[in-house]
Amino acid sequence: MIVFRQELCDHCGTCVSVCPQDAIVLYEKKIQLVSERCDGCRRCLIVCPVRAVEVQE
Ligand code: SF4
Ligand code: SF4
Repeated sequence: MIVFRQELCDHCGTCVSVCPQDAIVLYEKKIQLVSERCDGCRRCLIVCPVRAVEVQE
């Protein structure tokens, strides 16, 4: 499962724009996963410039 580290995220929005499932929501400086939509492709993890995206098994 994808997890966002809020303390590292600078709200650049890159992960939101690359997610093919529209599974990431950026709202009022909080990044959130819509887990039902996520298919685990990890694109968000690869593009995050500050490594704020992690995978927790
Ligand atoms: S793993 Fe893929 S589908 Fe899931 S939130 Fe990241 S980019 Fe979107
Ligand atoms: S790409 Fe990384 S820093 Fe940018 S909004 Fe997503 S989690 Fe935050």
